[in-house]
Amino acid sequence: MLGSGSAGNAVLVECGETRVLVDCGFGTRTMAMRLKLAHVAPESISACIVTHEHSDHVKGVAQAAQKWGWSVFATHGTAACPELADAQVRTFAAGDSLVIGSMHVETRRIPHDASEPIGLVLESQRSGVRMGVAYDVGHVTDDVRALCRDLDLLVLESNHDDGMLRAGPYPWVVQQRIAGPLGHLSNREASALAADSLSPNLAHVVLAHLSERCNEPELAASRTRAALARARFRGAVTSASQSVVVGPFEPRTSRQRDAVQMALPF
Ligand SMILES: [Zn+2]
Ligand SMILES: [Zn+2]
Repeated sequence: MLGSGSAGNAVLVECGETRVLVDCGFGTRTMAMRLKLAHVAPESISACIVTHEHSDHVKGVAQAAQKWGWSVFATHGTAACPELADAQVRTFAAGDSLVIGSMHVETRRIPHDASEPIGLVLESQRSGVRMGVAYDVGHVTDDVRALCRDLDLLVLESNHDDGMLRAGPYPWVVQQRIAGPLGHLSNREASALAADSLSPNLAHVVLAHLSERCNEPELAASRTRAALARARFRGAVTSASQSVVVGPFEPRTSRQRDAVQMALPF
């Protein structure tokens, strides 16, 4: 997680030789610095997939893609934004699948106040390891649930604490937008979704897009940890940070392809 929050998002996904970024909401100078900390050369990244056109996701895309030779992928709706006007964008519709190097990418429509926002499942064509990215999620839909199913790694929005949002500095209209059906997921909603999505391979839940004013990393993590502990989760929960690189997060060494247990003949 190169950084996540309302001031910028960038998730680096590595699968064999293939490196893909989900979003680039930071300028090239910040990206260069954070990638250096992750020991990744910017030129070694093949593509950037943009989830939606809000500036915390798209701000650095065009310039970085040109500077470092990345391909840019975005939905038709996202690609129409002014920030991508000068970029060469490979467009698709929300719900389409893509293949980038050794990764298969499934896209899902996400409810959020943008033109054609998406969440993603990135799957290794070799090992079958699956990682989900779901942030800027207004509310939990069937598509959001499907996205979170059967994953090894889940990056999930846990934007705000309900109480801190109500007591916080934002005017009522902004509070309504954040908590509304096209806004962002609260700690309460994220923890419930994480617990509902629990599957045997899930090794790590990374909480993303935390509000700096209406949340605390430890509060968000403890809420999801508690919900997952009740569901007997054996993995880890970590909150991403706006300002520092967090990770890497890795899947378990072997993936259970089928959850079918053979009965032993006693
Ligand atoms: Zn955002
Ligand atoms: Zn957004």
